[in-house]
This record gives sequence, structure tokens and C-alpha cells, in this order.
Amino acid sequence: MNQSNQTTMIIGAGFAGLFAALHMRCKNYKPSITLIDSQDRFVFKPMLFDALTSELAENTVCPSYQELLQNTKINFIKDRVMDVDLSQKQITLASGDQYLYDQLVLSVGSIQGYMNTPGTPENVFPFRTREDMLRLKSQIQSCLSSAIENKDEQSRLAMLTFAIVGAGPTGVEMAATLADLLPTWYAKLGGNIQEIKVVLINRAQTILSGDANAALKDVALAALKDRIIPVNLLLGAKVKGVYKDRLEYQGVDSEQIQALKTQTVIWTAGIAVHPLIQLISKQIPAEHLNKNGLPFVSQTLQLLDYPEVFAAGDCVEVQQQAQPALAQIAYQQGTTIAQNLDALEDGRALANCQAKLRGTLMKLGSGYSAANIFDKFKIEGKSADIIRHAAYIEMLPTPIHNFKATKQWLKSETINLFDPSCFLPKEEYE
Ligand SMILES: Cc1cc2nc3c(=O)[nH]c(=O)nc-3n(C[C@H](O)[C@H](O)[C@H](O)COP(=O)(O)OP(=O)(O)OC[C@H]3O[C@@H](n4cnc5c(N)ncnc54)[C@H](O)[C@@H]3O)c2cc1C
Repeated sequence: MNQSNQTTMIIGAGFAGLFAALHMRCKNYKPSITLIDSQDRFVFKPMLFDALTSELAENTVCPSYQELLQNTKINFIKDRVMDVDLSQKQITLASGDQYLYDQLVLSVGSIQGYMNTPGTPENVFPFRTREDMLRLKSQIQSCLSSAIENKDEQSRLAMLTFAIVGAGPTGVEMAATLADLLPTWYAKLGGNIQEIKVVLINRAQTILSGDANAALKDVALAALKDRIIPVNLLLGAKVKGVYKDRLEYQGVDSEQIQALKTQTVIWTAGIAVHPLIQLISKQIPAEHLNKNGLPFVSQTLQLLDYPEVFAAGDCVEVQQQAQPALAQIAYQQGTTIAQNLDALEDGRALANCQAKLRGTLMKLGSGYSAANIFDKFKIEGKSADIIRHAAYIEMLPTPIHNFKATKQWLKSETINLFDPSCFLPKEEYE
């Protein structure tokens, strides 16, 4: 029963929206809370690689909202929000249903950008959602199992070449992960692992340039060389097009277009503004949008012209306090939104968000990570891998899910001390 007849709607149950909702559960908040997401599972994106390699179960990395929201008063609607009328305070869903709100939280994140590259998105594999992860896993398995049967060397080598576009953190983590995973899986099928090629392609001449993880660049470069098969770096190369059987690129100092024969191009370069935010932005004065078209929010995380709308994460920029598009920032902003919704209800002053980067963590191979802690310490290898898992498992939503994940991880870690091959997805090939 909604004791106050007020309604708070949250659009997007990712790091900002889901954690804002979960924090509200501990407060004596009277308005009803409705969380809307187009998917039925939360995606813990930093650990999507661990689901790809089967180091963690898919359900651990992508738990269902039904599980996460059980025993809470939060209503969940699985539907896609198509439009928000800010002046009428009305939401329209893909199903045609419409809802009025008193307070709104906008937290739809961002989408993959492709920079108008010919052949994208149809010929590439993005890596942002559970479906992306499953599609890529199935592509890898299909390429490896077809290659083992293929007697024609040229077409076999194309099947065994995996290109990753973009050497930001996702591209680097993907390249390092595949350079351990692919040879392990292929050897299990009886293939020659020397025929596998993992190529990391980047337009800039360095990896991780201008990124929050830049301090880990040297550690990452060493790790990329040191995998079961070393990663080939193709730096200073602009991708000109992606086709079913090849990727075409041009060196920054060259006129010539070159081709890399491959059936798998994983695209991680660039993010773009979410279409719903593009639509909403039309209702916001141009001077209240940043240069990419993202709405500015105040430091209390409210839209400048609509104080009843809070917004956080990758879909907005905090005015005079731009933050990197990271889960740890979205998560902290979600906590501030929960505090501010509660303060608004009680008539208390709203707090400024104090989200801070607490260091960065990268997966750089199987059981191998790097951690930059508070910009003071850098750790790499197995110990950093343990820190990475512990830090993320700590962040997993709800104690029940967190407990299950910890138990599962500890079990695999203890077995792994004796038998590293336990991370192989045995059921997939046997
Ligand atoms: C592979 C990968 C690895 C990453 N690793 C790290 C890392 O190690 N550390 C780190 O800090 N950050 C990492 N990030 C970045 C981090 O995941 C994002 O910054 C973070 O998820 C942003 O949170 P958000 O709440 O803004 O959006 P999201 O977490 O993306 O959530 C948005 C939600 O909105 C929903 N949604 C979208 N559109 C609609 C709609 N129209 N209607 C209803 N629902 C909708 C989506 O389904 C989703 O659940 C990684 C990102 C990727 C892709």
C-alpha cells in the first residue's frame, strides 16, 4: 500500500538504478518504488569476462531481478521505456503502458558506439550485455570446432584469428582473456595452439590512453605479451570496414588499406549516447547539455530544469565534476540518489555526490589481474586477481547473492590451487 500516494519510478536497473533502489529498501521511504528495465537480469559488466571464460557461473554475473528484489517492496516492470515527457511527468513503455511519476530516476547507461564504420554493427560482436557474451561464446566455440575439422590452411587460420577493436580497458581485458582462453579450449580439442592469433587494434599509438586505467598501461602491455599465446598489437591503425570474412584497416601514416582475414571482430571502441537520452535531451535547453549531448545534473544529481528528476551513471554528466563512465562511480551515485530521495521526502537538505575513483582493477588473463589502489599501490598477478574478485563480490547486490557468489568463487579458487584446468568449460566439449 502506497502510504503517501507518491510514486518514484526508476528507469534502468544497472549500477546506478539498481543500487539506488536497493539502498531505498533499508530506508523508511513512503512513496511506492517501481524499477523498470528492458531485461530480466542485472549485468555485472566488470565480471562479464568471468562468465565468458566460465570462471564464474552466468547466474552469478547476471542474476535475475526477481532474485535480487525478493523480500523488498520494490515493484519491477520488465519493459523498454520509449519516451519520457518531462513536463507531464509521464513515462511511455514499449507495451504502450503509461505511468505518471512524482520523482524519477534516469539511469539507462550508454550504448556501444561504432563511429559510422562500414559493416558495423552487423558484422561485429559487441560485449556489453549477457546476450553479447553468450553470442560471442558460441561464436568462439563454433570457430574452434570448425577449425579443428578444416584441412584448408588459409580458411582455418581465418577461423582462428580473433580481432578486437579498441584498446581501452574492455579491449585490453578481452585480448588478455582470449589469449589464455582460446589456446586452452583449442588444445582440449586437440588443435595446434600456435595457429591462433589474437589481434588488438587501436587507432591511437598506445593502449589505455586517457583512461582511468592508464597507470596500469605498462603492466597491461607486459601481460598481453605474457599470455599462453602473446597478443599481436596493431596500434595506430584506423578500422575502415568490417566484412563477413575480413577487417580492413589503414595505418595512420599510410595510404594503403590492408586486410586482416578473420570471422570474429569484437568491437569495444567508443560509447554513444543512449537513444532515450537523445529523445529526452530535446526537452532540455542546449546549454544544459554537454558537448556529447548528455544532460548535465547538479551535484545533488538532479536535472537542472527538472529537480524531481534524478539521473546518474553513464547517461549524464555531473556539472563541474565530470567523472569517468565507470561502474564504481555509477554505484556511488546510486547511493547518493537513495539518500537524496529520502531527504526530499523528509524535507531535509539534499547532499552533494562525493563519488571518487577508488583505484582500478583489470582482468589480464586467466587467474591474472592488475590493481591500481588509490593511485598509491600497483599489484599484479594472482594476488591482484584475488583482490579483484573480492572487491567485485563485495559489490554484488544483496547479501544472499553475494554469499552464493563468494561460496562458488572460493570453491573454484581452492580447486584451482591444485588443478588450473578446472576453469575449462568441460561440459561444452565433452
Ligand atoms: C565489458 C565491460 C567491462 C567493464 N568493466 C568495468 C570495470 O572493471 N570497472 C568499472 O568501474 N566499470 C566497468 N565498466 C563500465 C560500467 O559497467 C559502466 O560504467 C556502468 O555499468 C554504468 O552504470 P549505469 O547504471 O549508468 O548503466 P548500466 O549498468 O549499463 O545500466 C543501464 C540499465 O538500463 C537498462 N536500460 C537501458 N535502456 C533502457 C530502456 N529504454 N528501458 C528500460 N531499461 C533500459 C539496461 O538494461 C541496464 O540494465 C565496464 C563496462 C563493460 C561494457
